[in-house]
Amino acid sequence: MRLTRYFLPVLKENPAEAQIASHRLMLRAGMIRQASAGIYSWLPLGFKVLSRLEQIVHEEQQRAGHIPLLMPTLQPADLWQESGRYNAYGPEMLRIRDRHERDMLYGPTNEEMITDIFRSAVSSYKELPLTLYHIQWKFRDEVRPRFGVMRGREFLMKDGYNFDLTMEDALHAYNRHLVSYLRTYERMGLQAFPMRADTGPIGGDYSHEFLVLAPTGESEVFYDSDATGLRFGDRDIDFTDRAALQQVYDDWTAIYARTDETHDEAVYAERVPEERRRTARAIEVGQIFYFGTKYSEPMKALVVNEQGERVPVHMGSHGIGVSRLVGALIEANHDDRGIIWPEGVTPFHVGIANLKQGDGAADAACDALYAGLKARGLDPLYDDRSERAGAKFATLDLIGLPWRITVGPRGLANGVVELTSRRTGESEEMSPEAAIDRVAQIYAKV
Ligand code: ATP
Ligand code: MG
Repeated sequence: MRLTRYFLPVLKENPAEAQIASHRLMLRAGMIRQASAGIYSWLPLGFKVLSRLEQIVHEEQQRAGHIPLLMPTLQPADLWQESGRYNAYGPEMLRIRDRHERDMLYGPTNEEMITDIFRSAVSSYKELPLTLYHIQWKFRDEVRPRFGVMRGREFLMKDGYNFDLTMEDALHAYNRHLVSYLRTYERMGLQAFPMRADTGPIGGDYSHEFLVLAPTGESEVFYDSDATGLRFGDRDIDFTDRAALQQVYDDWTAIYARTDETHDEAVYAERVPEERRRTARAIEVGQIFYFGTKYSEPMKALVVNEQGERVPVHMGSHGIGVSRLVGALIEANHDDRGIIWPEGVTPFHVGIANLKQGDGAADAACDALYAGLKARGLDPLYDDRSERAGAKFATLDLIGLPWRITVGPRGLANGVVELTSRRTGESEEMSPEAAIDRVAQIYAKV
């Protein structure tokens, strides 16, 4: 993309309403624009990152064997009356009435709807296990929407639902989600740790929230500092191998890590040596939850088991805050000049800064670089504006592209351009061909 042809409405001033870095930087970098409190338009740069996160979520869900579908944002109230949640949900639910006086709502989540789809089509254990998921907009009329996309009213969530015959099978689905989430966040360049979460009235041990440490996070967490060293990595894992997945679950949950809702001082003191105890703020970027027959029982989602009995299925639901993740990524990756995207999620792979727009040699070199990068399957952003070098660097630093190639007449006279890392600030001179190779190598690993 050439910057003069793009739509990148960057702001010079710091927006007064933004209290935290990610909100401020998303507005300044022209990624989002507020439509009303907690509701945003995603401008091209923001939309590109959001779409990239969606793509990673899709790939990792499907790797785990989960099946995508798409349910609507508007739901009929009667499904929620069946589960008993229509009255229980409270003012966070946006209730709507259509022209025929039918009660509708803008979905805050989809347990009821997916259970309805399931029961309409599945009646035998032979069709299990089944995990369906979608990535869809949700609406929760939060009392205090704030921090930009971090706590929106309208937000994008991946929500997946497993249907299993037994609790044991459902816990295998739970572990599949745990492992796929570890992979998902790591691919995004984030370290999100599963922490024991509150299961509310349902009880049991089977809910974990995934948290990213950040001083501006809304959750308080207590953990063993050993937790920060754990990485899942890009290892092959067979998602049908129950023992292998259970091992990952055991490894990750053996280390003490809890939110304030489940924190237990006595257990903490007993299990974690004093020098490893940590208390911090963190951002919740996902949650997994096994809840058994909570919906299948009242909504009669039954299957015939091997003995010929009709039994309610065991379910769980598993969410990833896709739009919140954009903010969380920026909270974890920025400096005072702007965003620093991890390579796995960057909106453009590399920026090209032409120091002398209009100079025949510089323009030709930039055009060749641009074409060369595209030919290697890369997505460059070419700053072809007639601006000073400082202004071009400031824009590219603000929007956070991890790599910049700087092209100027002086370097070109020696046959070189400069490749600069946004994160370290280190630069290296090399031929344009070598720069293309280097960038291609970097992204081949992502
Ligand atoms: P929170 O405690 O932050 O209100 P939640 O526990 O109510 O979130 P879940 O129902 O677990 O949310 O939803 C799954 C994921 O969706 C959360 O882990 C979070 O990342 C994201 N999410 C929830 N509410 C919002 C919101 N208002 N804005 C943006 N993302 C959200
Ligand atoms: Mg949650």
